[in-house]
Amino acid sequence: MTQYHSWLACIRGCGRRYSIYDVIYRCAACGALLDVEHDLDALKDHSAAAWMARFEERARSTTWPYQSGVWAKKEWVCPQIDDANIVSLGEGNTALLPNPRLGEALGAPDLWIKQCGVSHTGSFKDLGMTVLVSVVNQMRADGQPIQAVACASTGDTSAAMAAYCAAADIPAIVFLPRGKVSTAQLAQPIAHGAHVLALDTDFDGCMRIVQQVTADQTIYLANSMNSLRIEGQKTVGIEITQQLGWEPPDWIIIPSGNLGNVSALGRGFLMMRELGLIDRLPRIASAQAARANPLYRSFQDAFAERHTVAAESTLATAIQIGDPVSYERAVKVLRAFDGVVEQATEDELANAAALADRCGMYTCPQTGVALAALKKLTARGDVRPTDRVVVISTAHGLKFTGFKVGYHEQTLAGVQSRHANPPLELPAEQSAVRRAIDERLALSS
Ligand SMILES: *Cc1c(COP(=O)(O)O)cnc(C)c1O
Ligand SMILES: [Zn+2]
Repeated sequence: MTQYHSWLACIRGCGRRYSIYDVIYRCAACGALLDVEHDLDALKDHSAAAWMARFEERARSTTWPYQSGVWAKKEWVCPQIDDANIVSLGEGNTALLPNPRLGEALGAPDLWIKQCGVSHTGSFKDLGMTVLVSVVNQMRADGQPIQAVACASTGDTSAAMAAYCAAADIPAIVFLPRGKVSTAQLAQPIAHGAHVLALDTDFDGCMRIVQQVTADQTIYLANSMNSLRIEGQKTVGIEITQQLGWEPPDWIIIPSGNLGNVSALGRGFLMMRELGLIDRLPRIASAQAARANPLYRSFQDAFAERHTVAAESTLATAIQIGDPVSYERAVKVLRAFDGVVEQATEDELANAAALADRCGMYTCPQTGVALAALKKLTARGDVRPTDRVVVISTAHGLKFTGFKVGYHEQTLAGVQSRHANPPLELPAEQSAVRRAIDERLALSS
């Protein structure tokens, strides 16, 4: 695989390039973020048909590292790493589930849900973290003095970072705002032995400190400005297309916060088009919580101006971000994919998630935002009833038990629980139980 090669390049196209093994997160010349770029001419040594055949064969493989959905696409993701240094926990290869009943209710009967949350740590963050931690593992094997990996995160990023670092025996450091994080959010990093540092500040304060601490080149930054994560996450679009017989859907709806994932989604599709696997692109809808909607606001004036907001608290905690780090990357993608941005209120996201649960899903609040956005797009006619639509489900609902219980107990602020299903309390008497069952079944028929 040595004939293939990737490097870091400035996203503003100022021409500077760096090695993927350089400890660098921004262009030294102009300060912009970096993207991983690939030697596409080298990859053209295989025809599109040959790449598709190889990827299909690996989807059934048990051979390390191709059993991973990310590393099955190794040549397109991170070709130069030694297989022995890859840190994989079986990420990717998640199901793409048709859900016509839910689709019918949302006005898009040809609806599919990409189950990215059914993954080792319960979110799509695994797709990117496997690449980042593998690169660090390679650097350490090559004698580079990396002592630890660090991030500021209250949720899925720290869970994934802690798990992958634990698997590779690399120290992990998590920065959290003290007193502002639930036990559920702490459980994964603590269990994996990460050094969890609770600071007397808010999330932005933690972000500032982690950037200062990682200015020391021996502590490697794992927040999503790091483009290695985007490389892993870009496989989701390739995997979806492969699962649909190499025919891209008409629309992909994705919940968005820091905008790394929407950027990654776009990169996967552009690479497939460049290498001839597809000849058209899907449209992309980025879905934001109305209480943390900077991209939505920027979209309202056609991205003429970059908006930031003070994010208000939302049930969709993973996308409660007011100043997204990958804004420039995302705008490029949305322009190339005839993209739109939609938003959802607390009431809309919670009811959309609950409706999906009624159709057999178990939906996180972020995915609820995407489903609620879809409903608005079909109502407006942007998404037509015949369109094939894929919604990216970003985390497992089991990570959000408080949200589920609150919804069904009807205690969520700003939410009218239209699908609440509290348990029925009854005496232990056969006749009363029988009557209650008959009433319930009569109601639901
Ligand atoms: C991180 C995350 C998002 C947002 O992804 P960005 O790349 O920050 O836009 C959405 N949903 C879940 C569950 C997440 O963990
Ligand atoms: Zn630059």
